[in-house]
Amino acid sequence: MTTSHYIAGRWVEGQGSDCISVNDPALGQPFAELMAASAAQVDQAVAAARGALPAWKATSAGERAGYLRGFAEQLGQRREALISVQMRNNGKPRHEAEIDLDDAIATFNYYAELAAQLPSKNREVPLAAPGFTARTRLEPVGVVGLIVPWNFPLVTSAWKLAPALAAGCTVVLKPSEVTPLVEQAYGQIADALGLPAGVLNIVNGKAETGAALSNHTGLDKLSFTGSNSVGSQVMRSASAQCRPVTLELGGKSAIVVFDDCDVDQAVAWIVAGITWNAGQMCSATSRLLVQDGIADALLPRLQAALDNLRVGNPLTEEVDMGPLTSQAQWLKVASYFATAREEGLQCLAGGRALDRDGWFVSPTLYADVPKDSRLWTEEIFGPVLCARRFATEEQAIAEANDSRFGLVATVCSTDLARAERVADALEVGHVWINSVQAVFVETSWGGTKGSGIGRELGPWGLSAYQSVKHVTRCLG
Ligand code: NAD
Repeated sequence: MTTSHYIAGRWVEGQGSDCISVNDPALGQPFAELMAASAAQVDQAVAAARGALPAWKATSAGERAGYLRGFAEQLGQRREALISVQMRNNGKPRHEAEIDLDDAIATFNYYAELAAQLPSKNREVPLAAPGFTARTRLEPVGVVGLIVPWNFPLVTSAWKLAPALAAGCTVVLKPSEVTPLVEQAYGQIADALGLPAGVLNIVNGKAETGAALSNHTGLDKLSFTGSNSVGSQVMRSASAQCRPVTLELGGKSAIVVFDDCDVDQAVAWIVAGITWNAGQMCSATSRLLVQDGIADALLPRLQAALDNLRVGNPLTEEVDMGPLTSQAQWLKVASYFATAREEGLQCLAGGRALDRDGWFVSPTLYADVPKDSRLWTEEIFGPVLCARRFATEEQAIAEANDSRFGLVATVCSTDLARAERVADALEVGHVWINSVQAVFVETSWGGTKGSGIGRELGPWGLSAYQSVKHVTRCLG
């Protein structure tokens, strides 16, 4: 496949120097390849988005809502193909690939509704001072670059594309080079809907292509989801040009289990929080804080649950967890297993790569991990859970907050007053109480501290692509 970039309403061949191999991680084998976009093609995509902006921002909110509903409908029509490609290229089990698709559909439908309500957000502002009238209106930020990672490609792109288009922005999307296929659907849908050329552009490529986009002087904003190391480079580019940036970065999130919990229920929440998407989630709850009174009952049950998970190829086996999505990620997780051995950590489950083709590791549990261990402090991005015990609520809050990240947390307790109190005290963007990883498009997504800047989803996701204009008129 060569026509992998969607620029100015046309599919074009990549003219960059990088050849991107698209892999099946369950086999560790490539099944497609494509040439990256060149810097000149990134220029063309930004120019196309700039050219399309005046007409797109002048469309009625109702018209834009119609296109967004079209995206949702067309995603649904491509259901089986989109599930298959995520299973093959990401290694997702079928039920996870289905949930991702449904999330993307819900996102487009939600922002269609918000787009339809936009005219009512432009309003007269009553003034205390006489002699003036004032009104505010919400305008699109302009041309935005969207750079996304590989772990939830369909979803992460939907969380950016849908609100950006709803606001009246035009966009250049750069998917991850690890999973460049599934987001092709957004270009195909734009074609099918007759979205005006240049409103949505897609360029594929590696770091070089991402940097060509994030350094581009023709953007009005950049929204980035990915690692902290690349996020800080993206922020430097934004600061050099004094332009806004949204950053959705990494996490090292806590799950706090109080001793009034049902053990089996707690085990189910803990396992889901670290093995969904093979633990390759910014929101993985990878630090388990378990209260003394339940720890001795819980840890053996957790160990058994992790040992019993069915790990395998989602395309050919009934599995609970697939492979890691890339060889680089597999090597990274394996390097943490080696560090754990060097640090002498107590391994209760897993701690090794599977002896088979493909990029598989076993779900892993380390107990009584010291607070200064790299496994306790660093984002691993795999199914690797580290546990520590605590005695009091205050201690649990202090340990959970003792992180440079602040994305999410889970609190498990039947004492709901306590659970709510702890949720309020946690320094994160999103807390789940007695539930795990449930994300609703109406709420917000994003973190505090090193987990990023800004919020996606909900009305905040739309505001991220809007600029407030204030018009004041003298009546004199
Ligand atoms: P990454 O930072 O390596 O890559 C992300 C994207 O940036 C890719 O498209 C990549 O090609 C591009 N890129 C790489 N170098 C670049 C550069 N110099 N300039 C511009 N773009 C560049 O991240 P990844 O490995 O794809 O994803 C994993 C990371 O993403 C984890 O840290 C995870 O926590 C984070 N993440 C965060 C969220 C969130 O919502 N907070 C969601 C998903 C993933």
